[in-house]
Amino acid sequence: MSQTIAVLKGDGIGPEIMEATLSVLDALDCGLQYEFVDAGLTAQEKHGQPMPADTIAAIRKHRIALKGPLTTPIGSGIASLNVQLRREFDLYANVRPAISFPGTRSRYDNIDLITVRENTEGAYLSEGQSLSEDGETAVSSIRVTRQGSARIVRHAFELAHQRNRKKVTAVHKANIIKTSSGLFLDVAREVAKEYPDIEFQEMIVDNACMQLVMNPHQFDVIVTTNLFGDILSDLCAGLIGGLGLAPGANIGTEAAIFEAVHGSAPDIAGQKLANPCALLLAAADMLDHLGMVEKGTRIRRTIRTVLETARDRVTPDMGGTGTTDTFAEALVTHLHDR
Ligand code: ATP
Ligand code: MG
Repeated sequence: MSQTIAVLKGDGIGPEIMEATLSVLDALDCGLQYEFVDAGLTAQEKHGQPMPADTIAAIRKHRIALKGPLTTPIGSGIASLNVQLRREFDLYANVRPAISFPGTRSRYDNIDLITVRENTEGAYLSEGQSLSEDGETAVSSIRVTRQGSARIVRHAFELAHQRNRKKVTAVHKANIIKTSSGLFLDVAREVAKEYPDIEFQEMIVDNACMQLVMNPHQFDVIVTTNLFGDILSDLCAGLIGGLGLAPGANIGTEAAIFEAVHGSAPDIAGQKLANPCALLLAAADMLDHLGMVEKGTRIRRTIRTVLETARDRVTPDMGGTGTTDTFAEALVTHLHDR
């Protein structure tokens, strides 16, 4: 069975890193067909709108998208394009693996953890925010639901189960934010009982930050609410040396969108200096999601090999002297190493 995916090259360095990523996917013989659709500034210029209906339709049809970084046109009066996609497809789970690779400037080796962030509720509400008329008092509310908590915690446990992971840590602040964070924690405890083979741990968010910095190897899968997840997933990216190798997935009931965490990097666009690995790692996660786990694993292993052995071919951000294209070529060359 052949699978078609929607491909959004995106803005800035997007087209360059997408080309590199697709060259590796093609060399891997994944049997994927691509439907290329526009979004972001590129779409604004071509079609007069940053998120054309055809793009939404293609994602809806294929249910899987690989997406380069998008720039939301300034002054367009619209919500960020990523937020738009999240709402359109109810992308409730933001899954961000943080895996150490050689040659990165980081404090630790052998980090291998996944943050699962709730993406639709919590403190990220457009409603429930107010500023008093005199401008002296601001109120923002937090909304947590049983259903929203259950599906994100279940997502984390299912992921742990599929990827052979041993432990899920629910991060909360139920001691202080008793209602909303308390409800999340209650639900996490209930859902955890359905997975007796996976260790369940709960941790207060301030302690989790300290523990992540001091002893990150104790963590495996972390599941948490929207705001804490936003902060913790960047903390975890910092543990592996920054955003250069950080992929993300936004998964919902109607679609799953895989992307690099970094932005469009307009400062280096068009110069072939962009590191394609974050997007390629997102593609590897996409292959896992599609059941091609062996191919996803092979991509991660090949990135490791190239970073270790072909420094002259990798991009300057990894300390190399190569370009986006030589990096991709080296990856293709080493893809079938044993
Ligand atoms: P945007 O407005 O799209 O978020 P930005 O410049 O604010 O773009 P990033 O694109 O995340 O933010 O870039 C931050 C810095 O990291 C920039 O200096 C950029 O050149 C660098 N950078 C980001 N992605 C890459 C990459 N894939 N390879 C090399 N450098 C990168
Ligand atoms: Mg940015």
